[in-house]
Amino acid sequence: MVGEGETRLERRRDQIVPKLEPDLAEWELDLCSKVDETVEPNTPNVEYKRQIVWRNVISMSLLHIGAIYGYYVLALNPEIPWYGMVIADFWARFASMGVLAGSHRLWSHRAYKARLPLRILLMIMHTMSLQNDIYDWCRDHRLHHKHSDTNADPYNARRGFFFSHMGWLMVRKHPEVFRKGRTIELSDVWADPVVRFQRRFYIPLVLLLWGVVPTYSVYYLTGVPLFECFFGAVIFRYAFSLHYAWLVNSAAHLYGYQMYDKTLEPRENRFVIYTSLGEGYHNYHHAFPWDYSASEHGWARCFNPATMFIDACAVLGLAYDLRKPSTTLINKRIERTGDQEAKERFFNVNIVVDYVVGFIVSYFMLIFTFSIRLIFNGKF
Ligand SMILES: [Zn+2]
Ligand SMILES: [Zn+2]
Repeated sequence: MVGEGETRLERRRDQIVPKLEPDLAEWELDLCSKVDETVEPNTPNVEYKRQIVWRNVISMSLLHIGAIYGYYVLALNPEIPWYGMVIADFWARFASMGVLAGSHRLWSHRAYKARLPLRILLMIMHTMSLQNDIYDWCRDHRLHHKHSDTNADPYNARRGFFFSHMGWLMVRKHPEVFRKGRTIELSDVWADPVVRFQRRFYIPLVLLLWGVVPTYSVYYLTGVPLFECFFGAVIFRYAFSLHYAWLVNSAAHLYGYQMYDKTLEPRENRFVIYTSLGEGYHNYHHAFPWDYSASEHGWARCFNPATMFIDACAVLGLAYDLRKPSTTLINKRIERTGDQEAKERFFNVNIVVDYVVGFIVSYFMLIFTFSIRLIFNGKF
């Protein structure tokens, strides 16, 4: 029966994939024309000349100009109620959780299983983040793990902070990214009808969930003109969230503790843990990518709201089969490749202090905004 099911699924996939992946085909063809096929895939010195994609540079610049304008009109205008920015912040967190618990821990790493209602919710949240559809997100992320900090890593941190943070979006991808990208196995991701649905209707879903819902929610609750709601609750929220997410690829690969595996570039970075709501235990995550908590300890011992969310879903019966390595396995890895002393230093932080500082950093934008409003307007 299973065999039959798989065959049907494969047949169905063959019918759908070519129609749904024209961009992927273009993506590959575009690059293939620039690849020197005589170079072996694993050769480190593949000829590569940096090529700036000016269209992306311009879009990125416009996004940031729009974000500054959005922040000005929604956050700093004393005529606008203080909770306009709180609603925008709520949507930012809602969307981020779709990436952390959804495209990252669930679909990319299969670190736990989720029932249909949770997968639909995570898909909705993920769409709101506008970070490519789940299928593409998983391909890039699996590639990042498989070839971390090499030329095949889309956000190769060896090319510097700016490149791994956002520069990679503004230059043509390295040929190795395309070569190795084609080898990434994604049939399990494609097998989920929720992923296929999102990919099939990605543009209308983005317009609705990324654009219309946040704009109108702020509009109805604050009475602020729609145009300003859009720039504040969509453009500013989006740009700000992207920077917090990008820190995982940049700062958490460059600065911090390598306490589980010193041969891995990714690091435990407390600042990134706070900005990314629990994704900055990055040396651990690259050592044990299939841990649903993306950290050795759960939320009860250190700041990790994303794990708290998954645990809450498990209590409700929506998440199950949460995967976690045993303490013995973790300790063996530290003994072999890690640094026990660094680990002790890193975790030598009081849990209350950890959460208080975590929430201050995580809510920095709101705290900063309210302080500015208080100083200049005398009220929130
Ligand atoms: Zn990483
Ligand atoms: Zn990962």
